[in-house]
Amino acid sequence: MASNSFQPALPPNLDPDLAAWIQAMPKAELHIHLEGSIQPETLLELARRHGRVHELPSDDLAELRRWFVFRDFPHFVEIYLTISNLLRTPEDFALIVHACGADMAAQNIRYRELTVTPFTHTDLQQKGLTLDDLLEGLEAGRVQARRDFGVEMRWIFDIPRNVSFQGPEQRYDPGPAERTLAYALAGRDYGVIGFGLGGYEVGAPPEPFAHAFRAAKEAGLLSVPHAGETLGPESVWGALDALQADRIGHGVRAMEDPALLTVLRDRAIPLEVNLTSNICLHVYPRLAGHPFPHLDRMGLILTVNSDDPPLFNTDLCREYALLATEFGYGRADLARLARNAFQVSGAPPALKERLLAEFDRWAQQGEL
Ligand SMILES: [Zn+2]
Repeated sequence: MASNSFQPALPPNLDPDLAAWIQAMPKAELHIHLEGSIQPETLLELARRHGRVHELPSDDLAELRRWFVFRDFPHFVEIYLTISNLLRTPEDFALIVHACGADMAAQNIRYRELTVTPFTHTDLQQKGLTLDDLLEGLEAGRVQARRDFGVEMRWIFDIPRNVSFQGPEQRYDPGPAERTLAYALAGRDYGVIGFGLGGYEVGAPPEPFAHAFRAAKEAGLLSVPHAGETLGPESVWGALDALQADRIGHGVRAMEDPALLTVLRDRAIPLEVNLTSNICLHVYPRLAGHPFPHLDRMGLILTVNSDDPPLFNTDLCREYALLATEFGYGRADLARLARNAFQVSGAPPALKERLLAEFDRWAQQGEL
């Protein structure tokens, strides 16, 4: 059942018993981008499938792995675009979703909410891919992954915020939001449970997107925008007030505003935290200065996530391990955080109940 994909190095000072315990703990992950979850070997397979290996920097897997290692933001974007451009057919999406399922099994991730940006594939990039192609591929991969690995996936469709502001005056164009909304509504029968807003926050505030989020929420989707990553508290306030956020992607820079922290705690709005991503993208210079333990002590509901794991040379098990080695988290606290992710997920009620029961059974038997 294990995937043969490359495993990132765990922190060298991690107790091996704790590493095994983290691996065995049933986990849920709420913040991970499908396009950013692809391993180099899958990318190579896609390139071969389409006769486009020449578009990669190398056809050697070891070389590709080195190319994947995070350097800086422009390099990250270059890899992201290369990946996106090689996702051209329903079968491509089925392949990457199935590979994602194998990775879930290897890490004992029982449930994942994957963010997908349909507008990029169907509108921005001229690949001849339709929404029906995309939904068909996602669904085929999801069904195969459930059958082969017993894992559950749901989708969050997100608006790419930066392409929504056009021209020298950066005027708001509602097109990407309206198209993404239509796609998300059509996707509800295929496991779409959330509506997101992704991309670079600077110059792309949440407020103009309120129209689409209102409609998404009325249709029963969760509002899960990215906010408080590249911008500070004002972006999180906007996500709460204008987008009625049910959870915040990142949100860690709420740390800079005590009034905002109080609101997030009192309204029980969970944050989807991505430690390694925050360091790679320079939200914080060092892990030791990350506000995770402070936000946790403040009583906010936190979840642990990996964002774009192969591109940040991490995975979910490693993110939990970092809490232990950097901040001294022990088993009881790690299990509490893991349970949060099941609890605040957008899983349908019967599934959520089943996943929580499974987690609680493990916790009762496990050595907490
Ligand atoms: Zn993200």
